Amino acid sequence: MNEFELIEKYFNWTGSSPDVIGVGDDCALITIDSNSQLATSVDTLIEGVHFPKNTSAADIAHKALAVNLSDLAAMGATPEYFTLALTLPEFDESWLKEFSNALKTLANQYNITLVGGDTTKGQLSISINVTGVVKKNKALLRSSAQVGDVIFVSNTIGDAALALWKIQQNIKPSEQLLSQFNRPDPQVQLGCALVGIANACIDISDGLEQDLTHILKRSNVGARINLSDIPLGIEMQTHIEKSQDWCLALAGGDDYELCFSVAPENLSKLKKIEEDLDIKLSAIGLITQDEGIERMGGFDKKCLSYQHF
Ligand code: ADP
Ligand code: MG
Repeated sequence: MNEFELIEKYFNWTGSSPDVIGVGDDCALITIDSNSQLATSVDTLIEGVHFPKNTSAADIAHKALAVNLSDLAAMGATPEYFTLALTLPEFDESWLKEFSNALKTLANQYNITLVGGDTTKGQLSISINVTGVVKKNKALLRSSAQVGDVIFVSNTIGDAALALWKIQQNIKPSEQLLSQFNRPDPQVQLGCALVGIANACIDISDGLEQDLTHILKRSNVGARINLSDIPLGIEMQTHIEKSQDWCLALAGGDDYELCFSVAPENLSKLKKIEEDLDIKLSAIGLITQDEGIERMGGFDKKCLSYQHF
């Protein structure tokens, strides 16, 4: 049983309350009044699983909050509050100071307030629960992609995975790659700007194809993607030319870019978003009727994304 089957079998209980959209999207949505919904999500980072052992306290803090902000971004929600559950192996004041400063810096940047948490002793692990707000029934969902929509991704794909791959091969990654891995930029402004424009959206945390597949399954559609349209950084281009292997770009995790689908009549609105936010949005394919992802471009190997089980 994989991670997603496990969740489906044992923890998908939310049922059919009209005021709650539960398990299965980047955040749960809870209706709070006639105009708004709360979006809420929790993500845990564990030493040795989500970040290597020698990662700095500042990088850990940044990543822990950024990956949660990214789930709010995927729903088009505006960040409001978060809680922090911290498990520490020891009391280390300089570590805590660095962690706290970096957390505060990112929290201030996105105007999100720390309102509580829990502190325990054990293997280093950080859980953050974020809460944001979105206009009622306007949140970006995984389940609303339509046949004929154009599929987009933001910025470049696979850089963080390439950094991790290099670390594992004992090759020093460039500062730029390393920063994509340790300091992901959550696409909060993009998510908010896509409300009313995109039909479906997800953040790419576990690999482009696996995360796009979550949209496809929940929307009962398929996709055709063109490898030549996937936006790659220069180092990733070089890696693919040398190895003839696209798997880091297609299945590597930790991008925290958004993957979203837009109906043809809304495409013209994306230009302004690109200019306003100084962001690159690339069309990589189309939503189709068929099941699964059809890859165009001559690379047919099945790439496996990370799953915890
Ligand atoms: P993401 O990568 O966006 O953080 P996940 O892949 O971790 O999302 O989770 C998929 C969905 O399953 C989400 O809607 C999440 O809230 C839900 N989920 C994950 N673990 C559990 C759990 N233990 N109990 C209930 N829901 C869960
Ligand atoms: Mg997500």
